[in-house]
Amino acid sequence: MFKTLKVPISLTIALFMSVLTIAVVFVMKSERDESVKVVVQEGTAALSNKMALQLAIVMERSPGDKALFSQIFQPLKAHQQVVQAILFDNNYQVISKVEHSSGFDVSETNIPSSPDEVPFGVTAYDNIIVAHQLIGSSLYPLGHVIIYVDAEGFPSGGHVSGLSGELPIILGLLLIVSVFCTLILFYLVAPLTLLKKFAQDVFESKDYSLRSAHQSNDEIGQLSNNINSLLDTIEVELLINFEQKQTLVDQQETMSQLANFDSLTGLPNRQFVLDNLRLELARARRNDEDLMLLFFDLDGFKGINDSLGHETGDLILIEVAERVQHLLRDGDLFARLGGDEFLVLPDRDVSAAAAESLATRLITAFDEPFELRGLSLTVGLSVGVATASDAGYDLSELMSNADLAMYRSKARGRGSFTLFTPDMVESHKRKLHLANGIDNGLACDEFVVYYQVKVNNSGKVIGAEALIRWQHPELGLVMPNEFIPIAEQGGKITAITQWVIKRVCLDMADMKQWAYNSFRVSVNLSGHDLRNTHLFDYIYNTFMLCNVNPENFEFEVTESAYLENFALSNKFFRRVGNMGCAIALDDFGTGYSSLSYLTQINIDTLKVDRQFVSEIQTSERSRLVTGAIIDLAKRLSLSICAEGIENIEQWDYLKKHGVDSVQGFMFSKPIPLEALLQSPLYYSERDFTIEH
Ligand code: C2E
Ligand code: MG
Ligand code: MG
Repeated sequence: MFKTLKVPISLTIALFMSVLTIAVVFVMKSERDESVKVVVQEGTAALSNKMALQLAIVMERSPGDKALFSQIFQPLKAHQQVVQAILFDNNYQVISKVEHSSGFDVSETNIPSSPDEVPFGVTAYDNIIVAHQLIGSSLYPLGHVIIYVDAEGFPSGGHVSGLSGELPIILGLLLIVSVFCTLILFYLVAPLTLLKKFAQDVFESKDYSLRSAHQSNDEIGQLSNNINSLLDTIEVELLINFEQKQTLVDQQETMSQLANFDSLTGLPNRQFVLDNLRLELARARRNDEDLMLLFFDLDGFKGINDSLGHETGDLILIEVAERVQHLLRDGDLFARLGGDEFLVLPDRDVSAAAAESLATRLITAFDEPFELRGLSLTVGLSVGVATASDAGYDLSELMSNADLAMYRSKARGRGSFTLFTPDMVESHKRKLHLANGIDNGLACDEFVVYYQVKVNNSGKVIGAEALIRWQHPELGLVMPNEFIPIAEQGGKITAITQWVIKRVCLDMADMKQWAYNSFRVSVNLSGHDLRNTHLFDYIYNTFMLCNVNPENFEFEVTESAYLENFALSNKFFRRVGNMGCAIALDDFGTGYSSLSYLTQINIDTLKVDRQFVSEIQTSERSRLVTGAIIDLAKRLSLSICAEGIENIEQWDYLKKHGVDSVQGFMFSKPIPLEALLQSPLYYSERDFTIEH
């Protein structure tokens, strides 16, 4: 209600002083009234006595002279305060009456007027003092005097006017005391006012280092100290709060960095990209624009990681990030999705030409080998490109389309790019169908092993390659080139490999009976098999179980599969080789170009890839490569097998140049066991010449 304490305190003091003054005046007045009453009573008694005495003398001397009596009685009129006086004779008959100008008449009041009613002496009836005096003695009474006096009319009695001289002094004093009290009050309250202003300053400036300067031993001094202590506490709390807030901000920054950026390359991570892509897709759809996405991963990165260690792999990823970053423009988004998978979201230009140009620039940027720790490593890229419009602006569809296109590139061979087309989805559905059917296919024996004979230079069948097919209940005969990569991606390949090994072991007795004891069957292994630590035990146990001689077995592995798992492959093949199995490096010449590793691995045979054989007659380069491979194999004391022989010229050429064995459609396509057991064990050049 009041903004300052001074007003209520001043008002309280003023009220208190006024009440005190009124009380003093009231007490003084009532005391004065009492004393006036006493004086008036005494005066009235004296007046009535005096009048009675005078009348007694006159009445004794001149009895019955009423005129004389009245003459003596009438002077009472001169007394201002006497409002009425009545002189009675002994028989209570009025002799004389004195009346005041005020017109007071006792008969009109409740005050008695007859001598027999009025008590002797002085009696007070409110303000009217009544004196009844007997004239003469009580033995010989002569008459009665009754005087009525108005006590209020008595000079200096009955009115406040008696105080009127003192009232200004009292009021003056009251004023002085009030002013003085107010000044004292102001003086006392001044530190409180300063404290209030100080608190206001602290509040407005938020400067909690300010301190109140007021010092005293009273309550205000204690309040000032308490405010200072409170500020000390606030300052400490603020400091703690600031430090905690800073820690939280730092943690938040670290968490956001961890959540959104890849710690190895510093690139945005999958989470960041997905969040951004979602927004970008919504924006593109709103503006009726298109958006292009490039997915890529590194070819053979797993092999590098396994053979050269994860540290080298990490260094490569860092350099990949740097190389790609240099190719991109400012607004392009470049992120690492995880492992060796990266994504580029170009800022502008979503035409197929732009995609091709960027993908080509990406791929050629990796022609240059990585120089790491004294090693020169070439790493290729497989790129997949997809657009938002093809994916209906759906994020997961866009990602999956880009992924499909990238896997197409991988299937096509290293260092290539593929633009997504809707038909890839259909083929993807077939892939999914196949992937989901593998377990059931194995359980229901839907798979079949076909055998393709291998022939030596004299035309004698020395062995066969086991090649799996899938007799799918809905899709018909499915070839391994289609379902083996799917099984590899789905982690089902080792189950298939084990199934093939078991099947070949079971067929081995028949084949040996058909051919001879040293007949050797080749089984293909995938790179994934080499990472499976239980495969060796499985092979060993199956050989024991089926009573198979390991020398009747050969394992084929592609050079890329071997090198991608270099350490594990070496260990696995050393154990398999020690058991007596032969080892062949399949599709040689199509993978790694560095040949230095050949001296470090355990193999018996090099298999020249079908691609070179098919071009022997047409391509000088293929002849040169084939010649070099044969020469290399001889130097390393490896036997050499050529696959894909389709005509006698190819066989002649290869025999002439030192190939030890061959396989191809010219001799036999891969056929089921029953057909194999019916096929010839010798092939002479003449048979084919005649056919020609
Ligand atoms: P690969 O191991 O290089 O097998 C040789 C492939 O060449 C076979 O194809 C064979 O049918 C084909 N071929 C042989 N001679 C000729 C010829 O004169 N002309 C032509 N055009 N082709 C010829 P296939 O059976 O389709 O197998 C393809 C690939 O699938 C194999 O290549 C091998 O890498 C893989 N594969 C087959 N069976 C298995 C298996 O049981 N396990 C694993 N991991 N891979 C397998
Ligand atoms: Mg093979
Ligand atoms: Mg091959």
